[in-house]
Amino acid sequence: MSSHTSTNINTLGVSTFACAWCGLTVSAYAADGAPRNHCPSCLHSQHVLDHVEGGPSDCEGRMSPIAIAVLRTGDWMVIHRCVRCDELTSNPVCTDDNQLILMRMAVRPLAQPPFPLEAFGTL
Ligand SMILES: [Zn+2]
Ligand SMILES: [Zn+2]
Repeated sequence: MSSHTSTNINTLGVSTFACAWCGLTVSAYAADGAPRNHCPSCLHSQHVLDHVEGGPSDCEGRMSPIAIAVLRTGDWMVIHRCVRCDELTSNPVCTDDNQLILMRMAVRPLAQPPFPLEAFGTL
């Protein structure tokens, strides 16, 4: 058991980045201390080495949010695709992420099915 989990705030560790899409200055850590790599306002991210494990992942291209994935735990992940190198990444949703954009991505496949829904009537 460690006694290191005190409430001292490491001001040296606080960092920010500018959103590659909307220009918002984003804290690299969410309010609960979780690392954050995408903008809470527009959910765009940037393709830099720190954000992805392994791979040639420092092309610095803009990463667009394209989909929602749900883990077994029920947690939502945002799927990003790099506009420059097409790499896909997944990142946990933060509590202050734009919920309108999250919902819009989540329902998009249901709103635009690539097949006629009438087919279900004959099953
Ligand atoms: Zn943004
Ligand atoms: Zn990239």
